[in-house]
Amino acid sequence: MITVLTGGTGGAKFVDGLRQIVPPEELTIIVNTGDDLLWWGLYVSPDLDSITYMLAGKLSQERGWGVKGDTFFCLNAMGQMGQPTWFHAGDRDLATHIFRSKLLADGKTLSEATSEIASKLGVKVRVLPMSNSRVETRVLTPAGDLSFEEYFVQRWYQDPVVSVRFAGASDAEPAPGAIEAIRSADIVLLAPSNPVTSIAPILAVPGIREALRESRARTVAVSPIVGGAAVTGPAGILMAAQKFAVSIAGVADFYHDFLDLLVVDSQDATAAEELRSTGMQVHCAPTVMHKNEDRIALAKSVLDAAMQPPPAPAAVERA
Ligand code: GDP
Repeated sequence: MITVLTGGTGGAKFVDGLRQIVPPEELTIIVNTGDDLLWWGLYVSPDLDSITYMLAGKLSQERGWGVKGDTFFCLNAMGQMGQPTWFHAGDRDLATHIFRSKLLADGKTLSEATSEIASKLGVKVRVLPMSNSRVETRVLTPAGDLSFEEYFVQRWYQDPVVSVRFAGASDAEPAPGAIEAIRSADIVLLAPSNPVTSIAPILAVPGIREALRESRARTVAVSPIVGGAAVTGPAGILMAAQKFAVSIAGVADFYHDFLDLLVVDSQDATAAEELRSTGMQVHCAPTVMHKNEDRIALAKSVLDAAMQPPPAPAAVERA
């Protein structure tokens, strides 16, 4: 059994590779909901949507978000009515937001709504939000205390970042099944997602980090930092703001208390050697996913590495 913790961009590409080589009943995906927002009064969960669309084969590959081939008539009409349009929701995508909002208004939990949407889209993999409670990633900048989507989408992550916090996390509970999925997994994978704004919100839900520390599973992360920079987006800026090195060592540090193995890109081979000397297990592979074959190859390589027996302690000392 494999459990994956993920955000919605690098994470979605990685999940796409996994879904092509792992039977659906062996996969559970725990998804960041720190980016969720109310948009035109609708409950939107960007990472849950990206992962669900990816698993359903509906994610727009060009945009990396939203539904393939979608149209934007509603967005244009809302603009004509003077409504904000900086968050782009396509017409088919809106059906998901309307349906989820209806389910929540009917008293369903976010987990129930997520599994209902997934099942209507033909997704067999189990997709869980990190929590049914509202946990909101807030980015403090000189321009104000912003939601993640305001910082990322509306303002193009141009503001200097003072700090990041997860409002509501201390009172949140993990979604039903999330702790069990971590505890009972053979392998737990941290997708190549933004450590600060995609994985850290999941880890901030009380009980999840402890479950990772205590799990008997091999816990393996794929670095979103390649050659000293994020492949896409603000992960580097945010890691630096949190006083982490923008490097594979910084990623290892971020997950230090539970990580068994870090998968890094082949171009980081020298840095990998240095990291091994600290006792961290590191596997090098091509991790930048341009094409579908790259996604499948990375998923295979990560699972192969995860299934190798860990080196004997003496070998670690010698390394
Ligand atoms: P978000 O929820 O939309 O922020 O998406 P994620 O957190 O899942 O993805 C963003 C992260 O994915 C960034 O930190 C990128 O560096 C990383 N990323 C994107 N594409 C790739 C890729 O092809 N390979 C690797 N290793 N990382 C990637």
